[in-house]
Amino acid sequence: MNLKKYEYWFITGSQDLYGDETLKQVAGNAKIMTDGFNNDALLSGTVVLKPTAITPNAIRGLFESANASNNCAGIITWMHTFSPSKMWIQGLSVNRKPLLHLHTQFNRDIPWSLIDMDFMNLNQSAHGDREHGYIHARMRLPRKVIAGFWQDKELRRRMDVWMRSAAARKDGMDSTVLRLGDNMREVAVTEGDKVSAQIQLGWQVNTWGIGDLAARYAKVGDSQAVKLAEEYAALYELAPELKQDGKARTAMLEQAKIEIALKGMLEDEHAGAFTTTFQDLHGLPQLPGLACQRLMEQGYGFGAEGDWKQSMLTRAAKVMASGLKGGVSFMEDYTYHFEPGKEAALGAHMLEVCPSIADGKPRIEVHPLGIGGKADPARMVFDAAPGSAVLATLIDLGNRFRMIVNEIETVKIENSMPKLPVARALWKPYPNLSDAAEAWIICGGAHHSVYSTALTAEHFRDWAEMSGIEFVLIDRDTKPAYLQDELRRNDAYWSR
Ligand code: MN
Repeated sequence: MNLKKYEYWFITGSQDLYGDETLKQVAGNAKIMTDGFNNDALLSGTVVLKPTAITPNAIRGLFESANASNNCAGIITWMHTFSPSKMWIQGLSVNRKPLLHLHTQFNRDIPWSLIDMDFMNLNQSAHGDREHGYIHARMRLPRKVIAGFWQDKELRRRMDVWMRSAAARKDGMDSTVLRLGDNMREVAVTEGDKVSAQIQLGWQVNTWGIGDLAARYAKVGDSQAVKLAEEYAALYELAPELKQDGKARTAMLEQAKIEIALKGMLEDEHAGAFTTTFQDLHGLPQLPGLACQRLMEQGYGFGAEGDWKQSMLTRAAKVMASGLKGGVSFMEDYTYHFEPGKEAALGAHMLEVCPSIADGKPRIEVHPLGIGGKADPARMVFDAAPGSAVLATLIDLGNRFRMIVNEIETVKIENSMPKLPVARALWKPYPNLSDAAEAWIICGGAHHSVYSTALTAEHFRDWAEMSGIEFVLIDRDTKPAYLQDELRRNDAYWSR
């Protein structure tokens, strides 16, 4: 994915009180900073410098053109001098783009021996940004505030986190979740208000009949499947029975055809994500397994059993993680290990875990599936790479969406599991397994989630903030009893 195509408009605030010479210096410094941002490989997006904001009309005009711009994914404001905030009210009132308030200053150090009142007037972010922050607070605007020196590496990293979240939000505004069939019967947590999702998150959540995919599947030629299987052979390990003339090879070729058919459908519908359900597979020989894994690896969001919320969240995470080390996958909490001192959760799914999180080369295998009543599906089998990771999930509470994130450590799987032919991850959640599980369940968190070793909780927090949805973090400091109180206070806030 190309994240450089997303523009972040850099609006420097000042006022016309200081005279042309000062304003020239303000614009010149902002230009140097913009070039600095754009020459830093750490920043995934493109910063676009806008004229210094000095009058209410000009400020409103800037926000109006940002709204109208299809490339603008967010706005960065910074007050080089003082910029009276009533001038900003009209502009901020119409703004529909994510907002980053960058609280910095052009010079790192105070020039002790040279400093005079002219210098003080030119470099007064310390109070200009306080005036600016007040109007954001007064207007209850969703935003991120980052404070620090603009060349600092940690500040740049956090700017990039926000940019990636804003890129994912923009991507969601232009995206469709292609639902193949409905949700799994009787399941509650995968349900949700699709109209609210579109209003809040931009996503179009629509359904296509599985017959549409089956018809495309039937038209995919054998030679196309054979060609794709060559790619599989180059990228992954193949179980012996899948090699040329192997008895299970047909199962893999069927998944190749599903992948080709599904990808064509996703492209034609401009969809960024999709769902399947094992209860609705008419006209397909198998539950899409390998095909879903492959499409996730190519950047599509996926949700099983009709879970469109986790599907679009997986896609959002794929956009946020683009180009970063580590992976993103649809995930499900499956089973626990309660051995004292070695407590851990084993995550997996029936088939559909993305190989971007794999440790080493995934292996394609074919095994029976005890559910769905279809032929034995081909799937990739692997262990997830160890390291710091997060789990994120999105639930619908009826009056709002809640995002829940748990920080976890994925650990190396020391025991072999020869009878479990699925991709899996073993992790230790923070603060510990039982408190994390209690906290997640108190929140109403789903069994489905998005798993990522590339992202941090901050990516999801920023995305939730700019999407106007509730965000709950389960981390090292979480105590389930206090969390219960936090959620009750949140209920009051979100009922306003
Ligand atoms: Mn599931």
